Amino acid sequence: MTTATTTNADLFARAQAAIPGGVNSPVRAFRSVGGTPRFLVSARGPYVTDAEGREYVDLVAGWGPAILGHAHPEVIAAVQDAAARGLSFGASTPVETELAELIEQRVAPVEKLRLVSTGTEATMSAIRLARGFTGRDLLVKFAGHYHGHSDGLLAEAGSGLATFALPGSAGVPAAVAALTLVVPYNDLDALRAVFAEHGDRIAAVITEAAAANMGVVPPLPGFNRALVELAHAHGALVISDEVLTGFRVSKAGWWGLESAAGADARATSAPSAPGEWAHSTPNGRSDAGGEHVDTAYTPDLVTFGKVVGGGMPVAALGGRAEIMERLAPLGPVYQAGTLSGNPVAVTAGVTTLRLADDAVYARLDEVSETISQAVSSALSAEGVPHAVQYAGNLFSFLFGESVSSGARDYAGVLAQESWRYAPFFHAMLDAGVSLPPSVFEAWFVTAAHDDEAVSRILGALPAAARAAASA
Ligand code: PMP
Repeated sequence: MTTATTTNADLFARAQAAIPGGVNSPVRAFRSVGGTPRFLVSARGPYVTDAEGREYVDLVAGWGPAILGHAHPEVIAAVQDAAARGLSFGASTPVETELAELIEQRVAPVEKLRLVSTGTEATMSAIRLARGFTGRDLLVKFAGHYHGHSDGLLAEAGSGLATFALPGSAGVPAAVAALTLVVPYNDLDALRAVFAEHGDRIAAVITEAAAANMGVVPPLPGFNRALVELAHAHGALVISDEVLTGFRVSKAGWWGLESAAGADARATSAPSAPGEWAHSTPNGRSDAGGEHVDTAYTPDLVTFGKVVGGGMPVAALGGRAEIMERLAPLGPVYQAGTLSGNPVAVTAGVTTLRLADDAVYARLDEVSETISQAVSSALSAEGVPHAVQYAGNLFSFLFGESVSSGARDYAGVLAQESWRYAPFFHAMLDAGVSLPPSVFEAWFVTAAHDDEAVSRILGALPAAARAAASA
């Protein structure tokens, strides 16, 4: 049992003796920013509290799920009610269908959906399904995109691999790695070249709907649409990975921002307005002089995670019925899970999605705009060259003169002065603001970030910007 007098340092020492690196997911270890990870014991609204009793304004939001803020009372009540009726049945439940229907109503390319427990499972199963459907083996992914930790997806991946500068992972058989072709993001010529050479062997292109695991790097206007056209011209499928963006950047995820006809599905504030996206620059911001580009696209398969579980282990893969019906028991592609559709977890997801109304997305956009602009102003005031990268309400920062006009791919992101982030991060942490512990991660706001929480963040910025300037 943790007591108020236990220190984070003591807990980390104990954890390191029992758990590799003291963590159950690498980026939590603070390796790239240094120092002692905070051991959290509770969270409410926009705040998390560590084992020393210290409260932080949280801009990690459980790495995305907490769009309503932590421990939303209605979500907690629904989960408690579900838990009281049994934790796991390993049988069908009414609430699973409810979640599938909710997602299908919002994201038109999803006609059928299957629930799994993690984003890794969702993408892994989507790839198997694409291979089973097309009868082909090769997979195309983009450098700097992260799709979970299954064997074939760790080549030049973002997230923890970007943080630790790893090109891939030991333990992945060369024969498996050889089935993944890696292409620079936002580079249609490179994609065309790969299709020209291997077109009839490519089962699918997998892409983050908007990249946010190498920091935020949005697709150039029309990129998603062009890549779907190209893949289809060669008989390949497109898997749009919305594990991170799904139901966070709009009611219909990234697909909604670029493709949904109804305004209802769109986020409302300036950074997310589809009209602006049609003219956006590499950092995701508008360029008033641009030509109109049709950005609407229809992926074959879409993966979800994070928000669909409301902070509990739920993820999903969905798509065209014809493809989804190749899954067992209807078809020959096997996929299963003891905990898939777990009733307590799915209840958290359904309740979260139902509560995430237009006002929630408007607040997410507003908070994102306020915080990102304030960080940018603070950095400018200290003379730190930088760029803010946006994908809807997701944002991150690039440090350095050479990247100050933004980055459109992994090489561009890696060119930044990444060492400026650690002192910035620690100055914020010392002032009671918890940021993602790596420059290669998106910042996540919640609709519970009220004026008090936002003003605590703004108050911490001048000292953090000074720390970044002197690094
Ligand atoms: N795809 C994307 C786009 C992600 O951001 C993540 C996790 N950050 C995953 C897949 C993997 O999800 P999980 O960590 O739940 O396995």
